[in-house]
Amino acid sequence: MRKISKIRLELSDWLYNAGIVGIANILEYSEKKFEKKLNYIEFDEKLLENFEEMYFKYFIDKYLKFTSWYKIVSFEDYIMNFNEDEIKEKDIEKINSYIEYTKKRLTSSSYKSGYSIIKFGRLDLLKEEKKLKKIKKTKKQTIKDIIPNIKGQLDIISNIIYFLKEDEVKRIILAKNIIYDVIAKFLKDVSFLHKNANKNDMYEEYKNYFINSIISYIHEDKNNFSYNCFNCNRKISKLSKPASYDLTWLNKIGVDMSRKTSHFWNFYGDTFICPICNLVYSCIPAGFTVVRDKGLFINQNSDVKTLISINSIAIDHNTKFEELEEKSYYAVSENLKQSVVENMEKEIDNIQIVKLDSNNDRRPYTFNVLSKNKLKIIYENKKLLRYLVNNYVKTDAGDYINVYSEVIKRLYDNKNQFDLINKLLYLNMNEKFTRIGNIKIIIKINNDYLGGIMKGKMISYNTIDKLQQLGFELRKAYEVKNSKNKINGISYRLLNALKTKNTNKFMDTLINAYMYLNKEIPIEFVDGLKDEDRFQTLGYSFLLGLQGESEKRDSNKENEGDEINE
Ligand SMILES: [Zn+2]
Repeated sequence: MRKISKIRLELSDWLYNAGIVGIANILEYSEKKFEKKLNYIEFDEKLLENFEEMYFKYFIDKYLKFTSWYKIVSFEDYIMNFNEDEIKEKDIEKINSYIEYTKKRLTSSSYKSGYSIIKFGRLDLLKEEKKLKKIKKTKKQTIKDIIPNIKGQLDIISNIIYFLKEDEVKRIILAKNIIYDVIAKFLKDVSFLHKNANKNDMYEEYKNYFINSIISYIHEDKNNFSYNCFNCNRKISKLSKPASYDLTWLNKIGVDMSRKTSHFWNFYGDTFICPICNLVYSCIPAGFTVVRDKGLFINQNSDVKTLISINSIAIDHNTKFEELEEKSYYAVSENLKQSVVENMEKEIDNIQIVKLDSNNDRRPYTFNVLSKNKLKIIYENKKLLRYLVNNYVKTDAGDYINVYSEVIKRLYDNKNQFDLINKLLYLNMNEKFTRIGNIKIIIKINNDYLGGIMKGKMISYNTIDKLQQLGFELRKAYEVKNSKNKINGISYRLLNALKTKNTNKFMDTLINAYMYLNKEIPIEFVDGLKDEDRFQTLGYSFLLGLQGESEKRDSNKENEGDEINE
């Protein structure tokens, strides 16, 4: 009996890491135990038994509700609740659009190629499809007249659904679905994706191509092997299959590789990898989260556990890609640990958010890089950022601003938030946005950003609070003088001055406002004049108060969670 080997997979570039996360996801989903160390995962070769089943099962369960199989069989609910006494025109429309959809799927090449794989299929779906016909109703006919026809069609549909739900049929058709919907966006012309293997059992194809060669490879005596795997450096005997594999089957990678230089990719046709790395690359699609034609992977190589958890982003069939992206930013900030942030300078590379757009043939992968500086700001403002999630504001133009995404976008693009603050305050004055507390959060995040990126521009939270309070007091003073109606005009002028960065105009408006009350303007503004960014922070904080928001919580500075005013 030969000894059981362990397979160790070490973190590398983003592409390989996506494959490692994919394997980890697949094993974890099938409740297999494996080790997660700092920069590698390790598992028994025994876990590769039945890996092909685990592989497809992972995708099928994760993306079930996105599949056409699911859409077709879900009609069962409708049929069960069907009541012939209550049929309306819209029922006919619904049934007809379902029939149209189902006919199209059942005759698609992906389904057709699946039929020949199904063993002992008792129903010929192509024959059944021909029986499916849209319900027709002439002007002379009443709904009652066509009930027999409707019932006949529903019977055919029930029969098809019943068949599609049989274990073996489901296993093959769903595998076809997720190959088409997910896997083929990353991999091409290989194993079960090869056009000649189209009508072969994908489970067997996967096993033969990706698994069998590993099992023999790990027990080989490699001392006399004279080549090395390009990726992991393991020894390989020959530059041909099944001793080694090329990388031409990975969909176009682009040139933004983190570790490898782009010239490498021009030659990747000549590059050879070992059978183990071959398996890892086949799991790339399981490392990404895919929403229709787009996928997302967050690469951060500080440790395996974080890498895996950061990429476990929950989705459902209603999730839009923009939401997935927002969730990914959120996942990054939530998963950053203090130790990671502290050791950032030396230990980790920047975090990359890798996005796949499978409709973009020329350059399917794009990268958002989160530099250490930005990560630090995001980490330090984690709690504040959390309050901005799910916060949508309708603009004058009728579209929606996703506040969290807008803030994050500016942080990632290395821009300040002043334009956003200005816009939100404007919407607030027009009573379109009531969450003044959120504007304050953005002012604080922006203040940290200015302090972090451009040293010395930061203003203490105390000063921000104080300016807000001064604005609030000015408002109260106007109210006491029965001049509340003047506040809006003053606010608009101040807001405009900040937008155009016209400090003179701002100061003129302010001086006039205070003169009206026979008061002097706060000294903080005079100090602030030296620097434009500082001045903006002061000005906006003041406007928060002028809009009627008092800075009341002097005692609770530690707990940012209490900053929320709604
Ligand atoms: Zn290798």
